Amino acid sequence: MEKLEFSGKRLVVKLGDITEEDTEAIVNAANSSLMGGGGVDGAIHSKGGTVILEECKRIRENEYPDGLPTGEAVITSGGNLKARFVIHTVGPVCSGGILTEEKARLLRNAYHNSLKLASQKGIKTVAFPSISTGAYRCPVDESSKIALRTALEFLKEDSTVQEVRFVLFTDYIYEIYRESLRELSG
Ligand code: ADP
Repeated sequence: MEKLEFSGKRLVVKLGDITEEDTEAIVNAANSSLMGGGGVDGAIHSKGGTVILEECKRIRENEYPDGLPTGEAVITSGGNLKARFVIHTVGPVCSGGILTEEKARLLRNAYHNSLKLASQKGIKTVAFPSISTGAYRCPVDESSKIALRTALEFLKEDSTVQEVRFVLFTDYIYEIYRESLRELSG
């Protein structure tokens, strides 16, 4: 685990399975359908149970009949998970593994809007996976810098969210995030 602490706030990078995390909210790297999928999305729905999917269906019907746009975020309960809430966001797809300026902006939005929603709901601790770096093929190094910088800037300005954890599933991704956090704090 690697962390950065300042004025009572914490930015943490750790190796682990986000579905086991005990933060008040965990973030799901969803797709715009909100109907579940592979990777972390599949793991969250399968461990959290059908309550999450039912709430996602209601959100689709009431707010986003065409799907959740990239970079936006919505919240459901956490079902059977330790986390009370799941924040669902959609990261960009990096075709050819290239993070263009537009994709970088959308990735930043996904992190920022998830944190904004957490703050609005009074949530103090939030865990993120590495959004868009699995099936959506964004490069981990650049994506990790966007993720950490966005979280750090948010923590500095927000008075509700106290801790942001990045819970990385593989050693490879964990090491890259660790290096990026060191650079950011150095
Ligand atoms: P995306 O479509 O946004 O790329 P993926 O789920 O395919 O989403 O991958 C995002 C990241 O989530 C990847 O780095 C993958 O290794 C990671 N991941 C998969 N399962 C878990 C899990 N249970 N906990 C944390 N991270 C996970």
